[in-house]
Amino acid sequence: MSQYSVRGKVAVISMNNPPMNTMSHANRGMVKAAVEAANADPAIAAILITGGGKVFSSGAEIKEFNTPAAIASPALGELIAALEQSAKPIVAAVHGVAMGGGLELSLGCHYRVAAPGAQIALPEVKLGILPGAGGTQRLPRLIGAEAALEMIVSGNPVKSEKFAPGTLFDEIAIGDLVEAACTFAEKVAAKGEPYKRARDLSVKLDNAAAFFEAARAKVAKESRGFPSPPKCVAAVEAAVNLPFDEGLKFERARFNELVQTSESKAMRHYFFGERAVAKIPDVPSDTPLREIKSAAVVGAGTMGGGIAMNFANAGIPVTVLETKQEALDRGLATVRKNYEGSAKKGRISMAEVEKRMALITSTLNYADIAQADIVIEAVFEEAAVKQAVFRQLDEVMKPGAILASNTSTLDLDQIAAATTRPADVIGTHFFSPANVMRLLEIVRGKATAKDVLATTMKLAKTIKKVGVVAGVCDGFIGNRMVEQYLRQAYFLLEEGALPQQVDRALENWGLAMGPFRMMDLAGNDIGWHIRKRRYIEQPEMTYSKIPDLICELGRFGQKTGAGFYRYGAGDRTAHPDPLVEDIILGCSEEAGVARRAIGDEEIVERCIYALVNEGARILEEGIAMRAVDIDMVYMTGYGFPTYRGGPMFYADTVGLPEVVAAMQKYAASKQGDPAFWKPAPLLAQLAAEGKKFN
Ligand code: NAD
Repeated sequence: MSQYSVRGKVAVISMNNPPMNTMSHANRGMVKAAVEAANADPAIAAILITGGGKVFSSGAEIKEFNTPAAIASPALGELIAALEQSAKPIVAAVHGVAMGGGLELSLGCHYRVAAPGAQIALPEVKLGILPGAGGTQRLPRLIGAEAALEMIVSGNPVKSEKFAPGTLFDEIAIGDLVEAACTFAEKVAAKGEPYKRARDLSVKLDNAAAFFEAARAKVAKESRGFPSPPKCVAAVEAAVNLPFDEGLKFERARFNELVQTSESKAMRHYFFGERAVAKIPDVPSDTPLREIKSAAVVGAGTMGGGIAMNFANAGIPVTVLETKQEALDRGLATVRKNYEGSAKKGRISMAEVEKRMALITSTLNYADIAQADIVIEAVFEEAAVKQAVFRQLDEVMKPGAILASNTSTLDLDQIAAATTRPADVIGTHFFSPANVMRLLEIVRGKATAKDVLATTMKLAKTIKKVGVVAGVCDGFIGNRMVEQYLRQAYFLLEEGALPQQVDRALENWGLAMGPFRMMDLAGNDIGWHIRKRRYIEQPEMTYSKIPDLICELGRFGQKTGAGFYRYGAGDRTAHPDPLVEDIILGCSEEAGVARRAIGDEEIVERCIYALVNEGARILEEGIAMRAVDIDMVYMTGYGFPTYRGGPMFYADTVGLPEVVAAMQKYAASKQGDPAFWKPAPLLAQLAAEGKKFN
């Protein structure tokens, strides 16, 4: 794992734990043994630690968290202390990536030499923890409290050459890193002791009390629900106020507290989830992929324009097809407006706007898209219209082109049946706004070829989306679950709550947006359209009348200036509306319901457990491959807080028997709906067996 070689008087220890050289138990042991060997060898004057391959080290081995290996000797802190005490000087040669525990290891070395462009970060906060091996104590001593706090609280990387010379890095290497670092190491060894140790420095900060007061206020405001940022602030404050060893103990104690929290476990679930969803059990990772060098989009409406932007952003030329020139012009004008908006906010340059616009061409003629490697259809949500489009595509598209549909509710297999090549047909369900939302539900039809699926998953990555595979059903994973959630939200109104109370309860719990603000943003007409179909096809699926009454008034949400709330012109602020309250009270009366005060806990439980129960059915039916797929859909597409880990993970955290018990309680309550609250067989079974979804 670790390679030991000698260059002149320098022992070069190269960590080789590919691909990211994580500080696993084995890697730590190897480094410690190699440093001891170098110290014992009289021919060696200095020691160099570097990373084999493309990176120094990405940090802790997260798979070891909450296992004995995480703290098995040598623990990272123990190893770093040994480095710091080494009789011979140790130089870290940093390239590629030095993050988390990897960066902390380098902070325990006496000197650091970096290659330019190396990504330096303490990203622990993104996993709901804080650096636990001295990072919060040594980094402020080297780069100052303010810069260190910014890195620790944000977790964001900084390029090696951005640090003031002589602070984090003693030298930025020009040319071969190991060679430059060896020369540097021989030089410091020749000078003799004392070697520089971060622990011996003190943190200089004027007005420390006021600085930390302001920092605490800032994180309290910005990171509601996330337990780690306040502790990051406290740890850096300890670096300023406490002697080094006491600061280390303080940091360790905070780390130990955080690593046990359900929030941190949830955030790790998210971290691993991003990788887990990319694995499809029956599609090997070496499945040959089709090449995607050009794309086409049919339909230049809300979704089509946003989808085209994804390709342009990734440098893939895309042609947009419409039936009418006006629709095309309108669509492309919206795309331009979006790009120019980003330029105004300083996110991209005007030159970049033009570059991306130049990648988007438009046409009214199918012949112009025939050579595209993938075409995504985003026309009206009507089966006949979509089938007609797919018949056309089947006629003109070159063999091997992937034919994708952005349908959100229609049967993909029926769309595929309109072609002579159903194996090339797949669903790519983008979320609105398509150029912003990270989620892409990838719908696998019964005939979809494995290489089409694998290629589309890879494409998701190329356009920076999280691709989650879903089977064919009405609503796929996300919208099928959200329907049950909304049904509960509407019933809560009928029984005694108001939209603002339901939204506030769920937003305080952590959702980015409560159900009524969400529907006002998405458009209430979409749900109305679906409900009208339900009343005919599934009359047993009951609904409160409230949302229909709102829609009958043309209150479709923000786009019409009113929905469950009212909106000022050009303003997205949701104002509670007495008229809506009247409608709700009238509905309760008509339904013969005596309104009652409903607590926030009941609101949260009923809405979230509605998601969980439908999620269990989706798992049973194989629409989602694993619970983590459902969780990732919710965390990347529906504003579900990462510190809750998605609905299925959250249910696991609460305990499935507790979830079932709560459902039984709601089934037995006065307005309870036993059919709604009947636990899905999978949920009932797992709860009975003491098992979990994840
Ligand atoms: P939209 O009405 O904004 O746009 C549809 C566009 O398709 C229009 O510009 C129309 O001129 C064009 N069109 C219609 N028939 C066509 C044809 N035969 N050939 C070429 N162009 C044609 O609709 P939208 O909101 O962009 O939705 C498009 C699709 O995306 C639908 O299937 C919808 O269910 C799905 N979807 C929408 C959302 C959303 O939030 N809006 C989210 C996910 C998926």
